Amino acid sequence: MIGHWINGQTLVPEGSRCQPVYNPATGQVTEQVVLADTAIVDQAIAAAAAAAPEWAETAPLRRARVMFRFKELLDQHHREIAALITAEHGKVFSDAMGEVTRGIEVVEFACGMPQLLKTQFSDNIGGGIDNYNLRQPLGVTAGITPFNFPFMVPMWMAPLALATGNSFILKPSERDPSCSLLIARLLKQAGLPDGVFNVVQGDKTAVDRLISHPQVAALSFVGSTPIAEYIYSEGTRHGKRVQALGGAKNHLVVMPDANLEQAVDALMGAAYGSAGERCMAISVAVAVGAVADDLVQALIPRVKALRIGNGMDEQSEMGPVITAAHKEKIKSYIQKGKEEGAQCLVDGSELTVAGHEQGFFLGGTLFDHVREGMTIHREEIFGPVLCVVRVPDFAAALELINLHEFGNGVSLFTSDGNTAREFSRRVQVGMVGVNVPIPVPMAWHSFGGWKRSLFGDLHAYGEDGVRFYTRYKSVMQRWPDSIAKGAEFTMPVAK
Ligand code: NAD
Repeated sequence: MIGHWINGQTLVPEGSRCQPVYNPATGQVTEQVVLADTAIVDQAIAAAAAAAPEWAETAPLRRARVMFRFKELLDQHHREIAALITAEHGKVFSDAMGEVTRGIEVVEFACGMPQLLKTQFSDNIGGGIDNYNLRQPLGVTAGITPFNFPFMVPMWMAPLALATGNSFILKPSERDPSCSLLIARLLKQAGLPDGVFNVVQGDKTAVDRLISHPQVAALSFVGSTPIAEYIYSEGTRHGKRVQALGGAKNHLVVMPDANLEQAVDALMGAAYGSAGERCMAISVAVAVGAVADDLVQALIPRVKALRIGNGMDEQSEMGPVITAAHKEKIKSYIQKGKEEGAQCLVDGSELTVAGHEQGFFLGGTLFDHVREGMTIHREEIFGPVLCVVRVPDFAAALELINLHEFGNGVSLFTSDGNTAREFSRRVQVGMVGVNVPIPVPMAWHSFGGWKRSLFGDLHAYGEDGVRFYTRYKSVMQRWPDSIAKGAEFTMPVAK
């Protein structure tokens, strides 16, 4: 039974509601996860609130040292975490290893927190007065995370929340909950005091309590757009600071002057890697002008040749999707695409993998002649389905993207610097790649989309993350009389 983590220990309350956890490659139930009721969430909040003041008073350098030790432990457990991800999410092991690396990078960024918490000081603004700023923690903060990155997305939040001096409650996805407990154990081993980091497993009941509880000061959310919008509106209505990252429909524009081989390689990895279950997956290829026929002809054999299987098999390039229900939802999108008149060139709906007949597998699917407004262009499918939209020129490509309700990631393949520059400046999307298919910003830049891909003002991690988890305070001071102080002969150290 996968339990909660409250005040430094696991908790499996008697008579809890629970839900099965699957290995998507085999389709078998491997575990049960408990689902918190309101009382359990209150217990986690009470533990976090009790631990917060002392942690907030702990010197930033000492908090950073916990992060350094945590990073060392994550390095030691890198493969174990990746194997857990593959077992519950299904993505191939090498991809899971990459997920862990990208999560560790945020921990490395958080190790620099003493530097990041430095603020401004204006000396002698007049009359012996100085003006300076403080960045102070918020208290109890919480993060609600999606199934598709069970390690990396919690790492977008927790290291920054903790290193800035907050306590943190993680509500991971109930579909792949095991990573959260390993994170909790390693943080404890790294020296984090009990109660500073807690995990509540659960569903809407748990989330709604985190939203309504007055002691939770801030909520970070990553998931689908309808839930992001709900969390943002309800969270802010309850007076909380909220950052809510939502869904996506990411386009990759192939200009006639692009290196076609590189563009095709980029599309294959970005559309079908992790079975398309990435918020930065490319789900639309925008073929500009004469490039379309060559692009499509190059893609067809590659999509047909995708090696699909258990993520632990080194040969596999693509694993299963997360659940049987999600598989059916993706199949219904493929059906809808056909009905609305798109040309289905490769149909992965009926794939079965020998030896894994019960697994939640789909083959790669490729549509051509997709048009703006079709359901498969408008909505996020979150599966291994790539849509090709043909447009006459650069201006039409830009307009197609700028009209879309989502604005998470986008990419342009070209060999012309001016086109790339124009594109980067004019596209209404938060994260742009030029000859880079999945432009996920590094840990010291911030991650976030535009339009209905993000609700809130601050992006995740990087300097925006530091701002999100701290309150800015201005102090003006004047000392009319000085106070003489005795001499100190020992090297001053952080206490
Ligand atoms: P989801 O929205 O179904 O779930 C996300 C979290 O919200 C989970 O912890 C879940 O338990 C909780 N939740 C679900 N329904 C709820 C409800 N009615 N009320 C309150 N809480 C609820 O998302 P998912 O299927 O786990 O993840 C896939 C989605 O996440 C995709 O849309 C993807 O684009 C998005 N995503 C976005 C980013 C980003 O950075 N923008 C990153 C990763 C994933």
